[in-house]
Amino acid sequence: MKNECGWIAQTESTPVRDRLSGLQKADWLIIGAGITGLCAAHSLAEMHPQARIVIVDRQRAAQGASARNSGFVVAHEHPTTDELLSHQGFAGYEVDTSISRAASIEVRQRIARHGIDCDFRDAGYFFAVSDPAKLTHVEAKLQTLQAVGASAQFLQGEQLQQKLGIDHYQAAIWCGNGNALLQPAKYVQGLLDALPANVTLYENTDITGLERAAQGRVRARGIEGLIEAAQVLVCLNAFIPRSGIADSGTFAMELSASLTRPLTEQEFQAMGSVEPWGVLSTRPLGATVRLTPDRRVMIRNTAEYRSRDLSNSDLQVRRKHHVLGLQRRFPWLTEQDIRYTWTGHLSASRSGQPFFAKVEEGVFAVAGCNGSGVARGTLWGRLLAELASGADSPLLASVMHRAEPGWLPPKPFLDIGAMLRMRVEAVRARTEI
Ligand SMILES: Cc1cc2nc3c(=O)[nH]c(=O)nc-3n(C[C@H](O)[C@H](O)[C@H](O)COP(=O)(O)OP(=O)(O)OC[C@H]3O[C@@H](n4cnc5c(N)ncnc54)[C@H](O)[C@@H]3O)c2cc1C
Repeated sequence: MKNECGWIAQTESTPVRDRLSGLQKADWLIIGAGITGLCAAHSLAEMHPQARIVIVDRQRAAQGASARNSGFVVAHEHPTTDELLSHQGFAGYEVDTSISRAASIEVRQRIARHGIDCDFRDAGYFFAVSDPAKLTHVEAKLQTLQAVGASAQFLQGEQLQQKLGIDHYQAAIWCGNGNALLQPAKYVQGLLDALPANVTLYENTDITGLERAAQGRVRARGIEGLIEAAQVLVCLNAFIPRSGIADSGTFAMELSASLTRPLTEQEFQAMGSVEPWGVLSTRPLGATVRLTPDRRVMIRNTAEYRSRDLSNSDLQVRRKHHVLGLQRRFPWLTEQDIRYTWTGHLSASRSGQPFFAKVEEGVFAVAGCNGSGVARGTLWGRLLAELASGADSPLLASVMHRAEPGWLPPKPFLDIGAMLRMRVEAVRARTEI
């Protein structure tokens, strides 16, 4: 079966750009043209209008995870028990939320500045469960979310059903004031389309490593060409090891999702003609589900620790899993109603915090989005450009202070530990897939 992202299929792309060939020179090189790299390019172009800025991607730009994600703009994460108000972890949660809120504002500003039409819906979303036991400490969570600036409301039973139009979910916290939804491929394509003239993009350009060149410059090796730059920004997220940065404290995960046909008028009316919505699970491996503005259903209910890509037959198995999840929520939908199924890679860390650093003279990198890189990647791109340009700000200091991804054991212990942890999480999430 075809690995085809439904968001990308519904987004107009631009003609393919050249590959990098021969020896090129630039003032700035950005590796990775996802949300983070493209936002870094915009910021560098604003800060250094005379500079030659080059951005490269190993495939089509704006078609990696940045286009393949579920489109949740995260300003407020679901707090863990330790992060609740008056608990030890609250101080960290408060700082992290101030960063995420700034990131969510950054997304709005990018959309407004570049006039990006990406079905942006500033209406919050739900942390919802089908098993009420999976949503504990509700009152404390509402207080915690409100203490960090969120609007938060508990919903259950009939009230929740009226919002979602289905009776699968039994309890939820709706969370707004920063949390939003968008069509991810349209958002990242909009960032790409708006690149200014002093940014050159090379596509289908796989960087295989970095080395030191003359006069302290950094040389990036591609398959068919080389590029030397005074400063390099590595924005590869899950693929950071490909640049030769092996000790970022992050690891790759592969997720898969499906998108259905639009619901018919009759199906939609039977649901009460509800507004588009998004649901995140309270469990890390629970399903993410959306009813889109064009009345399709998106489900993402697999996430795996994998170092190799899923084969097409593996993807078929994941699609069966999507069907199960769909039928629990929308019993009338079958596999025939699925129009697109795809995979994407993200980067996670043990602590949930990113790697964000000056790696060595002239080399700066970020990775470890931990599933919320739509907003954070937008902010990190700018902040990484500022760090590399020698700028400083309280927000940059705050991001750098929190950027401790945590220690990872060497392989094969990492593989075994991660696999076991995923199995435990899968069991914990089994009512929510
Ligand atoms: C299925 C799924 C659902 C998700 N849902 C959400 C969500 O709802 N909300 C949210 O905030 N986040 C979500 N995420 C995470 C989000 O997609 C990422 O955090 C975000 O895309 C990170 O952007 P990025 O630019 O840092 O990385 P990417 O988008 O991964 O960009 C990296 C780019 O580097 C390129 N590249 C890789 N190797 C090389 C190389 N050797 N040389 C040159 N280029 C290279 C890739 O082709 C890619 O385009 C989800 C991710 C997935 C996969």
